[in-house]
Amino acid sequence: MNDPVVIADPKVISGLDNYLNMPAAQQPSWPDAAAVKSVREELATLPPLVFAGEVDILRTRLAAAASGKAFLLQGGDCAETFADATADRIRSRVKTLLQMAVVLTYGASLPVIKMGRMAGQFAKPRSSDTETRGDVTLPAYRGDIVNGYDFTEQARTPDPKRLLKAYNTSASTLNLIRAFTQGGFADLRSVHEWNRGFANNPANERYLSLAQEIDRAIKFMAACGADFNELRTTEFYVSHEGLLMDYERPLTRIDSRTGNPYITSGHFIWVGERTRQMDHAHIDYLSRVRNPIGVKLGPTTQVQDVIELIEKLDPEREPGRLTFITRMGAGKIRNELPKLVEAVRDSDANPLWVTDPMHGNGITTKNGYKSRRFDDVMDEVQGFFEVHRAAGTFPGGVHVELTGDDVTECLGGSEQIDEASLESRYESLCDPRLNHMQSLELAFLVAEQLAKR
Ligand code: PEP
Ligand code: MN
Repeated sequence: MNDPVVIADPKVISGLDNYLNMPAAQQPSWPDAAAVKSVREELATLPPLVFAGEVDILRTRLAAAASGKAFLLQGGDCAETFADATADRIRSRVKTLLQMAVVLTYGASLPVIKMGRMAGQFAKPRSSDTETRGDVTLPAYRGDIVNGYDFTEQARTPDPKRLLKAYNTSASTLNLIRAFTQGGFADLRSVHEWNRGFANNPANERYLSLAQEIDRAIKFMAACGADFNELRTTEFYVSHEGLLMDYERPLTRIDSRTGNPYITSGHFIWVGERTRQMDHAHIDYLSRVRNPIGVKLGPTTQVQDVIELIEKLDPEREPGRLTFITRMGAGKIRNELPKLVEAVRDSDANPLWVTDPMHGNGITTKNGYKSRRFDDVMDEVQGFFEVHRAAGTFPGGVHVELTGDDVTECLGGSEQIDEASLESRYESLCDPRLNHMQSLELAFLVAEQLAKR
């Protein structure tokens, strides 16, 4: 299955470069075209980060989730940064996702597909090309893969060498993830260990008592002579928004087994709410690669949009190919989602439906922070389950921005983070993330919803 893919020759990949004739939203204005070309050429010679065989397995896992036999847990930073790609930070994100997955698996008796917004989530769409502070206007921060966050002309000027740094940082992040999840760290018999180092709080206590139950169940099965191979390692997939064409195109390779193109910068690639126009570059490009594709759907999405996306991205109606990630907002999901879900249910398509309860619930606090209320996040998740229950369709996953650290970025949760506490540990350069405890609380809520589905 780990057959290495050969380097793409644009002449061989028919239609892959069609996107060049289309508008591509949210691309940086690189100051030096020759420098970008030379970086693209270098990227095209570097090894793939993921393999076509893994991507194919993921597609079958997502197909199971689309038909209600598994559940997708997708989470990580809004924007990864080079500075935070340290062993400690990566470990705590992986541990948080593993803990959430245990809560979901045990609570809902369903296999959980674990997927990070990790090892490639470096490019960000922005609402404006520029940012003005006082009388200075500079290019907006577009993520570490494009420019630096500091508000200086030097940092904000797009620098194509950052594409290579993003590749290298993704490679080292993915290497550590693979070591953690294949090398014994993710062994279910260490379910207690994953909690070590996290502060004591109500969600942790609940987690520890669940871990004890799991321990007892495992010991019972061991006493019965059961074999534990499945418990020793876990599959873990990586995903990011496929935004920056100068990164995704050179990392697209032809699979030597099948002759098909795969984006090898991550297993799963999604298109954001701002770049999913039907006649633009991103949708065209992703329609031509074999990876499972996600599309974000905001509250103004019409039935016609969804039907067109299905036709373009999944003309063969291939199980696991297409995921819709809805991000409606807590106040809108119960009104806006039913018509989409019902129209798709009544068609011949069977996409995976996932809730992103983060991006429709942004607020700016009085003291100037971009934040989200934990209650709104929970309410959107609940609304998502209600809509699917009413329609008789499968609520197949959750997509969240989270970190394993004890940051104070989202309001509320049982720690009751208030506006003043945002000042103590707000670290995100982009959107606010759930902290470790809020992530566990969310997992318990989702498990309850799944159990009564
Ligand atoms: C994101 O996932 O960080 C993002 C920008 O989402 P959306 O495209 O849904 O706004
Ligand atoms: Mn975000």
